[in-house]
Amino acid sequence: MTSQRTRSRMVDRLREKGIANEAVLKAMGAVPRHVFVEEALASRAYEDTALPLGMGQTISQPYIVARMVELLLKGRTGLGKALEIGAGCGYQAAVLAQLTNEVYAVERIGPLLEKAKANMRTLQQFNVRLKHGDGHFGMPEAAPFDSIIVAAAGAAVPPELVRQLAPGGRLVLPVGGDAQYLSLIEHTPQGYTETRLDPVRFVPLLPGVQ
Ligand code: SAH
Repeated sequence: MTSQRTRSRMVDRLREKGIANEAVLKAMGAVPRHVFVEEALASRAYEDTALPLGMGQTISQPYIVARMVELLLKGRTGLGKALEIGAGCGYQAAVLAQLTNEVYAVERIGPLLEKAKANMRTLQQFNVRLKHGDGHFGMPEAAPFDSIIVAAAGAAVPPELVRQLAPGGRLVLPVGGDAQYLSLIEHTPQGYTETRLDPVRFVPLLPGVQ
């Protein structure tokens, strides 16, 4: 049920759905998603669906994680210093950690952050720094970042996140309320560019900490 074969079937499905970057597929295949879901749901851990992770939040759908990471990587050799907003219990942070040696992640719900920390210890994933905070403000103490990824949707792009992008850096995030889309923001020598992409459905990016 949690075997390498089940995991590689998940990778096959991601490939069928259009994920082509081999480094991303390899990272997706390397992270044991069953570690991040409630035991009762472990048999469904490698289905391509979002699953509840407690506190009303969800662990992201593998396809969306792969799609967003692929957008971050496209045309670049690595993610560089990466920041994730909305770490939940750490699944996507663990995927990012396969692709770079420096990952920072912020989560606003204390108990989820504790779960994420425990999961990173279980996986011996020591290159992820987790912080309890409101991700609207990024992580100024570690900025700038080459890659920023957001796992919850705000009504607008948080300006602080754009400011924390290094030259050449990229930010991928969902934007909107009832109707959401993925947005890719790039810090180019000419300034910032925004590309609006797929329609998506994420939990809301909320203010403050809990
Ligand atoms: N990255 C997770 C997805 C978790 S769901 C995964 O791989 O499964 C999105 C998370 O964003 C939730 O845990 C929610 O609490 C968090 N979140 C929402 N608004 C936030 C904010 N302003 N700052 C930090 N985290 C936030």
